[in-house]
Amino acid sequence: VGVGNNNSGTLMPDKDDDDLPALLDHTPSYSGNSALNGNLPPNDRDNAESEPIFRVRSRTAVASTPNYESLDYEVCENKLFQDEQKKRLTERFSLRKDIIRWIIFIQIGIITALIACSIDIIIEELSELKYMFLMTSVEKNVPQTDFTGGDLVVPFLYWILLSVVPVAFGAAMVTYIEPITAGSGIPQVKSYLNGVKIPRIVRIKTLAVKAIGVITSVVGGLAGGKEGPMIHAGAVVAAGISQGKSTTFVKDFHVFKAFRDDHEKRDFVLGGGAAGVSAAFGAPIGGMLFSLEEAASFWNQNLIWRTLVASIISVFTLNLVLSTYHGLNDFTFTGLFNLGKFDQPLKFDYFELPIFMLLGITGGLLGAAWNSLNTKINGFRKRYIPWKIGKVCEAVVVAMFGVTLACTMIYFINDCRPLGNDPTIHPVQLFCEDNEYNAVAALWFQTPEATVRSLFHDPPGSHKILTLTMFTIVYYVLSCATFGLNVSLGVFIPTALVGAAWGRLFAMVTYYLFPETEFLHPGKYALIGAAANLGGVLRMTISLSVILMETTGVETSFFFPLIIALISAKWVGDYFNEGIYDTQIEVNHVPILPWEPLPQYKGLTAREILSSPVVCIKLRDSAHYIYNVLKKCDHNGFPVVDDVQGVHRSQGRVCGIVLRSQLIVILLKSLYVENSRFWLPDTSIQTFRDVYPRYPSIESVRKLDDKINYTVDLAMFMNPSPVRVNAHDSVPRIFQVFRALGLRHMLVINNENRIAGIITRRDFIYK
Ligand code: ATP
Repeated sequence: VGVGNNNSGTLMPDKDDDDLPALLDHTPSYSGNSALNGNLPPNDRDNAESEPIFRVRSRTAVASTPNYESLDYEVCENKLFQDEQKKRLTERFSLRKDIIRWIIFIQIGIITALIACSIDIIIEELSELKYMFLMTSVEKNVPQTDFTGGDLVVPFLYWILLSVVPVAFGAAMVTYIEPITAGSGIPQVKSYLNGVKIPRIVRIKTLAVKAIGVITSVVGGLAGGKEGPMIHAGAVVAAGISQGKSTTFVKDFHVFKAFRDDHEKRDFVLGGGAAGVSAAFGAPIGGMLFSLEEAASFWNQNLIWRTLVASIISVFTLNLVLSTYHGLNDFTFTGLFNLGKFDQPLKFDYFELPIFMLLGITGGLLGAAWNSLNTKINGFRKRYIPWKIGKVCEAVVVAMFGVTLACTMIYFINDCRPLGNDPTIHPVQLFCEDNEYNAVAALWFQTPEATVRSLFHDPPGSHKILTLTMFTIVYYVLSCATFGLNVSLGVFIPTALVGAAWGRLFAMVTYYLFPETEFLHPGKYALIGAAANLGGVLRMTISLSVILMETTGVETSFFFPLIIALISAKWVGDYFNEGIYDTQIEVNHVPILPWEPLPQYKGLTAREILSSPVVCIKLRDSAHYIYNVLKKCDHNGFPVVDDVQGVHRSQGRVCGIVLRSQLIVILLKSLYVENSRFWLPDTSIQTFRDVYPRYPSIESVRKLDDKINYTVDLAMFMNPSPVRVNAHDSVPRIFQVFRALGLRHMLVINNENRIAGIITRRDFIYK
């Protein structure tokens, strides 16, 4: 039962659509998913009863999972594309395109670094003001000889105020303006690079909210860092610059038009992510490796080169700006070693290697426990705090909780150290004698990044064992409760901080037990502890070890201990659960494709996961049929078939595939056969690129009342070479093809090249 036109112009059944009953009546012969019912837009579900043509049974988990769409990483090499290629088939053009590509990568490095510098400087300055004010307040309200601490209430209230105000502001911005900016952003960027369309992830508004969000959270004193958000910021910069237009500001600069597709954009986003991490840590190689190890799903040699250049340019720009800002004229700003440079080379003895491994195992266990606790807390949040105001209040409560715990520690633990040994810039005397400073307050009265620095570089004997034990426990719990709040924050720094604390603690306890030992450099063990804890939570090895080396300036010989700790942590952690970013992706049901097919798919064939019957479109089809298909079902790709005499469309012979976005443009621009003489000369691939990336929806196409009998010829618009596989091909094999080529749809055909089914990324994950 199709629909057509009667004299009055209303929609009536159309004899031509004789295959549509097949979709209604067909009972799939395979265990694959039926096509439509579960995917009908909610409003159309009821109408489907009166318009039976699109009512098809659906019964797998595919329909019940959140509907993330995919990106088109497969280049659609249609006739229009080929025409463009032919016109530009000169060496000069390729060279020009390549040079422009390099220029864009360099621009990405520079702009990302400038954003990183701004965030860095603002955080440093505001934190300095905040902690100076608090210290003055402590000194004014707690007389040096007063050990009752009665007046600590005033600085405590100030501290609460100075934490709550920025955190509430940041959380409100994230919650009410751009919720996608919550968290580190790494899982989102990773999903994007894997081919999943995460709405609003690379918009300018997202960048602005992310930047303000991370500043307010760090200045507010939450247990988090800026590195994750910097990857996200770099990704947005890359996506923006490479497209030469801003959809938010409705401004087209008419440049870089050749790069306006998902495939090109993906590569730039990867470069942006790398530039972001490099700028956050001052670690160019680590930044590039971080992007490759954690975020990238596809890469090649050229891309690695360009990414490295973006990272190096980013760090160079950072150095230039920060050196100038700090009044240096020889680009030697040491703050680029974000975690502080070790003055002496770190040495180790071979008998320490098992100890490093043991610390790695501890890191793996603590990391796995952290991940599962954090996932439980986030599950609880999702269930019991669904309201926006509740999310903001929760962030405020966690900020207050953190301050209260810190104050309680400062109040109850008496850890006074002589001033000469003083590693902090502004030591607080609180409850201590003259010429002494309070070591507990020193840990809390600075940003988490500065505390990691202190733990790495403070001289031996800077803390009591009790101080570090309590600090480790408190920060472990606090960071676990913080990651998942509706604020922009990364998990790298708090994780490194916890690790550095227990690593240093290990050295102190061992020294306490065996005072004659000489190898127990507390900074060295803090570094190994940080590596182990990071390995346990994030499960990365190569990039983390390089980042730690680049940010602390240790020699390459120390790479070995670091990698031992990291790998032991990763292996132990992997035994229990996945890394925190993958866990987040999983709990949000984002359909990202793993590196290998899931174990339950081994031994299956395409026949067992495909969807059938398939909604197809004829090579020359009526505009009206296409309009109806787009209105009634929300698939994004439709096989184009011919030779449908005597059979239904869903069994036609494959000649290509066409995307929903292309069909909408065709309808919107009236690219019909009947009036081809008007549009044919001007139509090019640019017609489609102009509307990228925010393709209009079918709702923007007005009813086709007067064009109901018009025809669309898809020959020049469709992708004529979709990847086709056979129903008996093995799933692991087709998975590799699907993943390696970044496909969105894969057609399953029989020996006569007739459609047998269709496979999308969700079929590899949820069936
Ligand atoms: P994506 O969402 O990845 O951008 P899509 O919207 O075309 O692509 P999915 O939402 O992944 O497809 O598909 C959901 C289910 O519908 C999958 O099981 C898939 O096999 C099936 N499916 C996809 N396209 C068609 C089609 N044209 N006809 C019938 N079933 C389809």
